[in-house]
Amino acid sequence: MANQELAEENRMLREQMHEFLKQAHHNQRIMSRHQSFNLELIGASSFRELIDTIFSTLPTSSDLDVVSLTLIDHQSNLRSILQDLSLDLSDFPQLMFVANETELALPPHTKNKPVLGRYSAKQHGSFFSTCVKKPVSVAIVPLIRLNRLIGCLNLGSFHASRFTANMATDFIEQMGFIIATCLENVINHERLTYIGLTDPLTNVSNRRNVERRMLEEIGRARRQQYSISCMYLDIDFFKQVNDQYGHQSGDDVLKEVASRIKAELRLSDTLGRFGGEEFVVLLVNTDQQAAAQVAERIRLSIAGQPFFLSMTGVCNSTISIGIATLVASGNHGDMEMIAAELLWNADRALYEAKQQGRNRVCLAN
Ligand code: GH3
Ligand code: MG
Ligand code: MG
Repeated sequence: MANQELAEENRMLREQMHEFLKQAHHNQRIMSRHQSFNLELIGASSFRELIDTIFSTLPTSSDLDVVSLTLIDHQSNLRSILQDLSLDLSDFPQLMFVANETELALPPHTKNKPVLGRYSAKQHGSFFSTCVKKPVSVAIVPLIRLNRLIGCLNLGSFHASRFTANMATDFIEQMGFIIATCLENVINHERLTYIGLTDPLTNVSNRRNVERRMLEEIGRARRQQYSISCMYLDIDFFKQVNDQYGHQSGDDVLKEVASRIKAELRLSDTLGRFGGEEFVVLLVNTDQQAAAQVAERIRLSIAGQPFFLSMTGVCNSTISIGIATLVASGNHGDMEMIAAELLWNADRALYEAKQQGRNRVCLAN
């Protein structure tokens, strides 16, 4: 009898051990999935790579049905940097931006802790506005860097038991901490890249960036078989502005000229400051005739209105513009050579415009 009892107890113990082992294996699998997710996060070297990892790996590594991310972006600063660095934000519908903490509208009493529980359209709707099928339970995880709220990570499941109000949140908090740190890191990296590609006075691309974009655009034009046009612009008698009104006023004119040129361009075009008072514009999918129309608009927008100077009143200015076009049938051979030739031709046309009396647009022949 005692033997039988012992055998029974033994069997139960073995069963229990088996269960424990199963659970341990299960936990280990989850841990290693999380570990590799964390490594992927830490290894991401750009904003795109990090966001890609969050949206594509996190759902599988953490058994989630929907994941979205809301970032605080004062004055659209981050968005405009990312766009200038050619990141198409429409690739990431689950990535949302708000202007400030109030607009983020975290559920009340979060005190910067994750909030877990049932999904409510009123409280969580904005975090999951781009999801077709709404989650049943959610975790809203505030992302904090150095005591500053930078956004929140929104996790959702189609199962009610996945996130409940009384669940421990240590694990999720740790994940939020890692993601916030990685985000800050890649955003700083993107800002540095942007600074290295931007002219600090006028905030348009610098020469290096235009040259880089030129090669990219020549490649794209070749693949898609369209024309691109290049404008070389030079402010007329700019030395006189400096001499007459001072260097600070010259700087004011440069900034205003850049912004008037930009106002006439499409988002896909590139505007860069090439040197002192010289600018280059790259117009994608644009033939010579269309480029000439844009150039004429730019010329008029500069000649047609006075420039208000911060220190010394008002002055007038004009600009000369040379245009060269690369047609699809001529887009073959070494791309660096083609880029150099396109710029050279636009510069020759600009020289012609200066020769003919300035304040005019000339086309390369
Ligand atoms: P042109 O019509 O032939 O182009 O005459 P210009 O006077 O514009 O040409 P020039 O090349 O002789 O003079 C360009 C001037 O631009 C000289 C330089 O002092 C000024 N310049 C270059 N960079 C800056 C800058 O960053 N700020 C200011 N204020 N002036 C600059
Ligand atoms: Mg010049
Ligand atoms: Mg000049």
